Parts: sequence; structure tokens; C-alpha cells
Amino acid sequence: MEFAVSELLREFEEMPLSLLDMEADALHDVLGGPTLFHLQGRREPALFVSVLMHGNETSGWDAIRQVLRGCLGADGFDLPRSLSLFIGNTAAAQLGVRHLPEQPDYNRVWPGSESHGTPEHDLMRQVMDIMTDREIFAAVDVHNNTGINPHYACVNVLEHQSLHLAALFGRTVVYFVRPRGVASMAMAALGPSVTLECGKVGQAHGAEHAADYLQACLKLSEIPRHAVPSHDIDLYHTVAVVRIPPQHGFSFDDDDSAIRFSRNLDAMNFRELPVGSQIAECGARLEQPLDVRDEQDQPVAERYFMVERGRLVTRVPVMPSMLTCDPEVIRQDCLCYLMERYNDHLADAG
Ligand SMILES: [Zn+2]
Repeated sequence: MEFAVSELLREFEEMPLSLLDMEADALHDVLGGPTLFHLQGRREPALFVSVLMHGNETSGWDAIRQVLRGCLGADGFDLPRSLSLFIGNTAAAQLGVRHLPEQPDYNRVWPGSESHGTPEHDLMRQVMDIMTDREIFAAVDVHNNTGINPHYACVNVLEHQSLHLAALFGRTVVYFVRPRGVASMAMAALGPSVTLECGKVGQAHGAEHAADYLQACLKLSEIPRHAVPSHDIDLYHTVAVVRIPPQHGFSFDDDDSAIRFSRNLDAMNFRELPVGSQIAECGARLEQPLDVRDEQDQPVAERYFMVERGRLVTRVPVMPSMLTCDPEVIRQDCLCYLMERYNDHLADAG
């Protein structure tokens, strides 16, 4: 059954307090689908916060309800700034998955996406149109990841205000322009915009860090327009995405899969790997086991990796991020991203 756009998005100017007691997997029964709340605060325009773009990444919802509980006054919420809260894939959250098999990834279908034509593309366009009319102070999209990663913020444009917003979350900041169709990239057209990566799901520290951050954003009267001092930030640029072609089997165990990763592969995240670092063991007949794409979506595996006596090793110094040991995530999304240091766009403190 196909839903009209207006049936896909629910929009409210009030939020029942009982919602704050609900875990992410209970939201779908109450909301019935993606929902946009506009809660009025003392300053305009609103901070736009999106959560549950990926249904299993619950830190954002846990963080925002912590913030809202903290802003409860005698008659409802007393927010320092208005808040527009977009709760995304409630159906996937109900099942604790990134997205349902028949759905696209909610963080790949925002305006600017390379795909089109699903009801979810229309949904995100509608959210954008609403927020364009209302205007935003800034946009924050909250995520988790599956491997061992530091908490970090991502930006999609190298612009001072977005970098300030990112540095407020922590000193590690990642700039990327692929994949396309992500929320923070679309919202960057309307104001300073970041994606937060809050570590693994279920770690209380992730939700707390995001809650502290969102609270700080709501209290900000403005976001500085000057360059971020380079000593305040470690800026990395995502230069490639690494996938495993579907025809190649892989495992994290010592069996006879074509590609065998070590069980603590994700310990390499955000580490500068020297040339010759081993990524996996692999069958001698596999010449190039990985599919690596640069920012123009061109195949560049040979630039980064080679097979040497049954070992898949790095050819140039690289820094991976989002390496995960979760086979489902690897198949649904990717193995990791490759990054380079990128501090040129910051003010040199001298
Ligand atoms: Zn995510």
C-alpha cells in the first residue's frame, strides 16, 4: 500500500509528556510513523534535532527526552530556544533495526540524494520544506555506530559556523561529502548543521554526551562566525568508502572464508595506520578483495590496498573510521571509511 506524503509525516505543536517515558521501540505504537514536533521556547528560530534516522540508534531519542525532562516547568516545557524535533524511522526502531528490508536507509534519501522516487524521499523533502519556511538556528542529527570509535561530529560543508557547532561536541571532527542524501548535508542549506556520532548503542555515556550537547545548543544565543582555532579541533576528511563486494565471503573467525578479519578490527578506528598494516588475511586468488570508492564514486582500491602473500595490507598511510565487526552493518552499509587529516580550513593560532 502506498501512502500519500501527508499520511507519512505527522506534525504537532505539542508533545504529550507521557512520550518522554517511552523507549525508542515503543514510539511507533503511539506515533504511528515519522513525526515532527515544534516546541516553542524563549528564542527563535528553532534548533532542529533529528533522531532515529536509523531505527536501532537510540542515543538521540534518549538524549532529547533527557533534555526535555530537564526543561519541564510548571506549565509544560520551558525551553531556552524553540525546538523542532524530527523522530524518524519509528517502524525500524520498534524492531531495533537500521531500516526495514522494504524501506530505504532514512539517512540516504534527503534532498541531494543520488536515488529518488520512494515515499521516504518525499517525506524528507516535506520536512525540509517545513523547516525552510520556519527557519532554523542550527541542525543536529544524532547517530550511533557499531565499532569502537571516539565520539565525534561530522560536517558536510567547510564553513565556520558548522565547524564551531561540531567542535562544541568534541575535538574530533569529520568532514565528508559522500554518501549523499544524509540529513546534515541537506539541512546545511538552511543553517549550521552537524551529524553526531555518539559511540555504540546502549552506552549511557553516549546519550549523556548528546544530551549535554543539545542542552548547550539550546542555550546558545549565537554561533561564532570566525574561524575555529586549529588547536581546538582535529579535522579529518573522509576520502573514500570501503565495501566488500557481495560475491566475496568474509568472517571474523578462523574459517575458510575468502576474507578473514581479526576480531578486534575496530580497534584501528581513528588510528593513523602506517604502510603495510594488515587489514585481513585472504585467499591467494583474491587480487583485490575490497571495493573502494573516492568522493567522485570512482574505484580506487589499488591506491589504498594490496594483497601480499595472503595478507591484505595498506599501500599508503590511512586512517579508518567506522570499522565495524558487525557483518550485517558491513553488508547493509560499508566496512569503513578512509580519512586524511585536513586542518587547512582552520585559523592558525600561530
Ligand atoms: Zn546512523
